Amino acid sequence: MTSLTFHGGVNEIGGNKILLEDKDTKVFLDFGKSFSRRARYFEEYISPRTSNGIVDFLTMGLVPDIKGAYRDDLMKMAGRDPQEPDIDAVLLTHAHADHADYISFLHEDIPIHMGSTCHLILKALTEKAPRTIEKEILDFKSRPQGLRDHPVKRKIKEFRTGSKFKIGSLEIEPVHVDHSVPGAYGFIIWTSEGPIAYTGDIRLHGTHAEMTRDFIERAREVRPIALLTEGTRIADGHKEESEQKVYEESSKIVTESTNLVFADFNFKDVDRFKTFYNIAKETGRKLVVKSNDAFFLRYLSQDPYLNVPDIDDEDIIIYLSKRGSGTYSESDYSRKDKEFFDMGNTCTAEQIAKNPSKVLCAIGSYSFTALIDMLPKPGARYIHSASEPYNKEQELSHERIDAWLNHFGMHKFQSHCSGHARGPDLMEVIREIEAESVYPIHTESPETFKKISANIVFVEEGKKYTL
Ligand SMILES: [Zn+2]
Ligand SMILES: [Zn+2]
Repeated sequence: MTSLTFHGGVNEIGGNKILLEDKDTKVFLDFGKSFSRRARYFEEYISPRTSNGIVDFLTMGLVPDIKGAYRDDLMKMAGRDPQEPDIDAVLLTHAHADHADYISFLHEDIPIHMGSTCHLILKALTEKAPRTIEKEILDFKSRPQGLRDHPVKRKIKEFRTGSKFKIGSLEIEPVHVDHSVPGAYGFIIWTSEGPIAYTGDIRLHGTHAEMTRDFIERAREVRPIALLTEGTRIADGHKEESEQKVYEESSKIVTESTNLVFADFNFKDVDRFKTFYNIAKETGRKLVVKSNDAFFLRYLSQDPYLNVPDIDDEDIIIYLSKRGSGTYSESDYSRKDKEFFDMGNTCTAEQIAKNPSKVLCAIGSYSFTALIDMLPKPGARYIHSASEPYNKEQELSHERIDAWLNHFGMHKFQSHCSGHARGPDLMEVIREIEAESVYPIHTESPETFKKISANIVFVEEGKKYTL
């Protein structure tokens, strides 16, 4: 028997956790964190208690209560007997939190399959941010008392596009797709009932649309019995957007200014990083990055396909934030930051203030306190190069951004292209692949899919669908 059970990504954007069972083989397609569900119960001042291990996550339905999935230490903390792992593998599409983060709770003997580039990004994320119970994807420290112990490493298996591999009765072919993070894949999976296709997150208006087209082509060829498709923007109409457009708009904004310019974007989006890196170079400015974002450059520059500069690149400067004594004394910085100190290509807010036309500050709105030390001249510019606010929390944070900009007389610009396919593009994908049945996930508007195909399965969470 072959079946699908959706434990996340149902009527919500992200949080995908799809259990595929075939004969005796069980794999999860992604095991992500659902931001919307977490935000229903938790926020900054009320978060799941690390001291309670996995219990808060299980009780509030942030992870499914299934047998043979979770770490021994977490089972013990929950007062349950440790269990032999009953999941054969996780197939991870890409490094975004809504697909990857809750791997953190899974048993260390469950192999995690991911693209090599995705692995590099996760390594950078591990170094960049302090360890939390919700972010222990590549390794974890046994709890509650093991924080001083060596981390337990997970079994990571890397794949490249087109290279098939087997897990039990399943054969899997990962095919690269274009998304707002490199190392993103869709999967074609041969089950005993026939092939199925899973898109992961995709777009067709990005820099590497041909990769998504490769996936569509391959999926069409195999005539899948089921297509599991993302539908983030299925209800949206056509919109003119591309990375080239972001480049042109932002380049104009920077070129026209001799004042300070801030650019705010997500470093995992390598296309966007390159857009601003190139704009900085072409306008005679240096790109200023935060030290924790520098880890992305260190890891991604190792990937021969990505063409990302390393942190010692002559056009990149590491921003040195004020810490400890507030005097930029070496003793104020941790071992990791000292490394940048020693490289000699750091700069402080005060140094930036002396030469505002020589830098493009990619340090984001969370570093706005730097403006207090920079005291930018009125008319300085801020380019918000990420999605516009889509919920109340984001609206609040945008109001805060606006307040900072108003206070310093700065002008705000918006320039972005999404990581997700536009509605009409997605409809085209579904029509082209011609799967026997279509399971819309990673969407708040599954009903919109009715327009495209009569074979839509409206997914209910936790229900088993036999193929
Ligand atoms: Zn996603
Ligand atoms: Zn994504």
